[in-house]
Amino acid sequence: MRIDLHAHTTASDGTLTPAELVAAGAEAGLDVLAITDHDTTAGWAPAEQARPAGLVLVRGAELSCRWYGQVPAIPLHLLAYLFDPTAPALVAELARVRRGRVERAQRIVELLRADGVDVTWDEVHGYAAGGTVGRPHIARALIRAGLVADTDEAFEDRWLGERYRVPKEDTDVFEAVRLVRAAGGVPVFAHPKATKRGKVVPDSLIVDLAAAGLFGLEADHEAHSPAEREHVRGLATELGLVVTGSSDFHGTHKQVKLGAYTTEPAVYEAIVAAASGVPVLGA
Ligand code: AMP
Ligand code: FE
Ligand code: FE
Ligand code: ZN
Repeated sequence: MRIDLHAHTTASDGTLTPAELVAAGAEAGLDVLAITDHDTTAGWAPAEQARPAGLVLVRGAELSCRWYGQVPAIPLHLLAYLFDPTAPALVAELARVRRGRVERAQRIVELLRADGVDVTWDEVHGYAAGGTVGRPHIARALIRAGLVADTDEAFEDRWLGERYRVPKEDTDVFEAVRLVRAAGGVPVFAHPKATKRGKVVPDSLIVDLAAAGLFGLEADHEAHSPAEREHVRGLATELGLVVTGSSDFHGTHKQVKLGAYTTEPAVYEAIVAAASGVPVLGA
């Protein structure tokens, strides 16, 4: 069984539509694929409709969170699987975070324009095409303007990584774990020790999150070094958390391929058994 529990579509900052994603999952030889767009479930229905027979679809999302235990607060990502997409408190919080993303992207565009950079909100908004707006959509405008060669360059410090970085409205990570659990979902900390993406949270936070209902840690991920993967595994063993591996596929704006990292069947089964929001499809 090949199981990939983290992938994005045009419902957020991926480049394949949800229908194209499930087709690509089957094509890549996956047995199980999770759709985990940033802060939205908008891709669920089209992915369900296009799901090829033989591919099990896990419906999920990747929640933009923040830990306020340190100043400045540290942003982090929480994967949430098989939650009820109509749970009112969670629905409201996702909508709030998405609105905050729009305002933040507009501010970034204003900062760029103030420095004479030829990008507009209309252009960026167009690239997001109705999905959750993110910095990759601004990166695309910078590429179009000929200012950077690719998304990675757009995330360097002189662009979106620092000079034009504006914090977004995230969810307090403890609140996020609570909301996901209350909606019958299963929360897994995405790439928790990816130091190359910026500041990471201390292990003590992961200890506290485990006590608060966190179910697992994503260890095998391209943004983790081999040492970071081992560290995450050790921590999971210590805390009784499951360990996942996944591609975090985004289509063409990242190099990583579907199924580049995978999750053990027993872990997948444990996640499904712990969930009560919605079932997996096609099992
Ligand atoms: P945002 O969610 O708007 O803060 O943008 C972060 C997203 O940009 C991440 O979810 C990644 O998918 C994407 N991304 C692409 N390249 C990079 C990079 N070099 N560093 C950080 N994020 C990146
Ligand atoms: Fe992303
Ligand atoms: Fe992430
Ligand atoms: Zn992701």
